[in-house]
Amino acid sequence: MDITLNNGVTMPALGLGVFQSAPEETTTAVEVALNTGYRHIDTAAAYGNEREVGNGIRNSGLSRSDVFVETKVWVSDYGYDQTLHAWDKAVGKLGVEYLDLLILHQPAPDRFEKTIDAYKALETLLADGRVRAIGVSNFMPHHLKQLLEATEVIPAVNQIELHPYFTQQDVQAADSEHGIITQAWSPIGGITFYPGWGGKDRRNVMQDPAIAAIAHAHGKSPAQVMLRWHLQQGRSAIPKSTNPDRIAENFDVFDFELSPPELGVINALDTGVRNGPDPDEAREERFAMVITEA
Ligand code: NAP
Repeated sequence: MDITLNNGVTMPALGLGVFQSAPEETTTAVEVALNTGYRHIDTAAAYGNEREVGNGIRNSGLSRSDVFVETKVWVSDYGYDQTLHAWDKAVGKLGVEYLDLLILHQPAPDRFEKTIDAYKALETLLADGRVRAIGVSNFMPHHLKQLLEATEVIPAVNQIELHPYFTQQDVQAADSEHGIITQAWSPIGGITFYPGWGGKDRRNVMQDPAIAAIAHAHGKSPAQVMLRWHLQQGRSAIPKSTNPDRIAENFDVFDFELSPPELGVINALDTGVRNGPDPDEAREERFAMVITEA
């Protein structure tokens, strides 16, 4: 299933995420996913595994043009020249000549002018054909407004925390108003259950009884139901797994359909409670992370 972005580029709606995929597991996970039928991988400079993602793509034997490669610029590389150079680092590690989608990993709320300059570099990369589409991540409506006022190209994608317990309807509405595709991170609620993470509400969405009942009715798993819920509402989703069975399970979502009442039941589970970092919180340590050269 493809989604057409606001610049006409098509993006496979479902991709493989690789946050917290250990480098030694990432190459195999990417290769397994591509052999399973995935054609979209979401990585980031900050994940430290772009090199392994590139190896997995090459091991799959697929042509470069058959795989939609998405990565993110980390905040310590924000600024016009720094972000142009972040592209060099990303393509160097991935071993590719262009990126399909390059996004800013998050706003830097206390240095928004640097965020704007970083986005202007993305615009240059787009104009030069070094990326096919550009976007943002973790941008709230007021960040989008500030960005749109200061730049020319409307982001193609806004990647945000989005699972049944946190649906960010306000961000989704702002995205659609501008023709921006909302892409769900933690689409099956990973941040509600991955180990070692605190958070205000650690209710595990994977164990939600309403989702379990819908899954049971369709002979599918809760993860598959959540992914279907994203796809049927026009979102992109990038579930992470390094387990071959779960990689396959998460792609086996094209043979059933949730009814409008079922979509409504899942939409009603929203708690309004964010699990991930607050995009408006200025955290200095983010700037301390140095993204290595390719
Ligand atoms: P997720 O994809 O919702 O969940 C991943 C977790 O679920 C992992 O612990 C995985 O473990 C497990 N899992 C995978 N498939 C499963 C299944 N079918 N049944 C049960 N458990 C399953 O969470 P995420 O990794 O946070 O988000 C996905 C991707 O979004 C990331 O990998 C990354 O690419 C992106 N992301 C972006 C941001 C951002 O700030 N832009 C933040 C977070 C994530 P196994 O690997 O053991 O299967």
